[in-house]
Amino acid sequence: MVDSALQQLRERLRGRVITAADDEYDQARRVNNAMIDRHPRLIVRPANSGDVMAAVDFARDNSLDLAVRGGGHSVPGFGTCDDGVVIDLSRMRGVRVDPVRRLARADGGATWGDFNAATYPFGLATTGGIISTTGIAGLTLGGGIGYLTRSLGLSCDNLVAADVVTADGQFLLASAQDNADLYWAIRGGGGNFGVVTSFEFRLSPVADIYGGPVFFELERARDVLEFYRDFITSADHQLAVFPAFQIAPPLPFIPPDRHGDLLVGLVSCWAGPLSEGPSMVAPIRDVAPVVAEFLGPMPYPALNTAFDALVPPGMQQYWKANFARELTDPAVDAHLEFGPRLPALNSTVHIYPVNGACNEVAGDATAFAYRDTTFATVIAGIWPDPADNAQNISWVRDYYSAIAPHSEEAGYINFMSGDDQARTEDNYSANYERLVAIKKKYDPGNLFHLNQNIRPE
Ligand code: FAD
Repeated sequence: MVDSALQQLRERLRGRVITAADDEYDQARRVNNAMIDRHPRLIVRPANSGDVMAAVDFARDNSLDLAVRGGGHSVPGFGTCDDGVVIDLSRMRGVRVDPVRRLARADGGATWGDFNAATYPFGLATTGGIISTTGIAGLTLGGGIGYLTRSLGLSCDNLVAADVVTADGQFLLASAQDNADLYWAIRGGGGNFGVVTSFEFRLSPVADIYGGPVFFELERARDVLEFYRDFITSADHQLAVFPAFQIAPPLPFIPPDRHGDLLVGLVSCWAGPLSEGPSMVAPIRDVAPVVAEFLGPMPYPALNTAFDALVPPGMQQYWKANFARELTDPAVDAHLEFGPRLPALNSTVHIYPVNGACNEVAGDATAFAYRDTTFATVIAGIWPDPADNAQNISWVRDYYSAIAPHSEEAGYINFMSGDDQARTEDNYSANYERLVAIKKKYDPGNLFHLNQNIRPE
């Protein structure tokens, strides 16, 4: 790459190019996971889709690695690279709501916090992540599991259209009418097919929900898991519940003498009529004596931000995941062996329900293949001090090895680590060959390879 090429890129852009010569470079190269310490040659912060087209052309024509960053939450750090180009969409975060047609158009760099803040005033929402700082882009492209999955499906099930800049620098619409193969692939196939500069989501009436966390003594973890596995198979689809192993943070609703104790929790979200909330969550409160709870009516965006402080940027992170059709007795035993060894306050284990509306979509209707499974488990190792990396990574790996025999081969790609690339094919199951064919069509040179990669060959 010569200076003149970089100069030409700068002249094409409305947005900014940041290099090591700029003061903000060190800040701009960082992603959420502090374990990832990469030095891109340049970071492009586009102002619009035209800038994205220019940056894609630049990376391709100069044979540079290309990383695409939405919210920057990828645990393996796919939103950055060494010596290549990063397209960082963090300046493209606008959200426009059409309350009449119940649609929202969001730019590719928006977070769920941006999105929910824009839709809540209209009493509308779509399925997003549990944490508000996660990007809508990476989360939706990989599937999208959250509080509303059982009632509205995955985030990608609510994606009705997208604007995509493909590897040849072209701008394409993707919807049921336009480039339907691309539209199919980006609903679960991750960032393999191009840079999505804008997402259009279907919205549903969700404003205030009834829910929050309830914590029990760790000794009651077996009761909690056994209750959950039965309850969730028949619970109303407008109710989400998931169990969590969690060290009690210093929050006002937790008795001060319990701060720092390892507890087991059930987090719920009832998205139906508010008046029915207390009776809907009553069985959850009855599982065992309650140690602490923060349960009640609240705006949906309040629940979506409730746990943000537990996962600030700058933590070390290493995660593993898999799907499970059932939470069998041996699986519960494995959770009871490793959950109580949770080594850090920021770490957690969640067993999300992915039944309900998510299961009502056919396995080949979108790239997200696992439509006949019930649980998506994530072992989220999150801790502050790099000196503790070996201990925390071992805990995640040992835990994963213990539950793997009782789970599917596959896991949710967005919860995977960098060392899970070999599992990509399993994760797409029967949809893999179709994804490879679409990859060959839109990205034959595998320009978009910094992801859970679907190789075109
Ligand atoms: P980024 O790091 O920016 O990108 C991740 C991947 O998506 C990369 O491969 C990137 O190239 C690609 N990508 C990003 N933007 C674009 C774009 N505009 N066009 C094309 N490709 C793009 N997942 C859930 O389903 N539910 C949850 O509740 C949930 N909670 C999470 C909480 C935390 C604290 C974290 C760290 C992760 C969580 N995840 C959750 C996982 C999350 O879905 C993935 O980490 C996801 O990749 C994050 O998207 P992002 O845009 O923030 O990440």
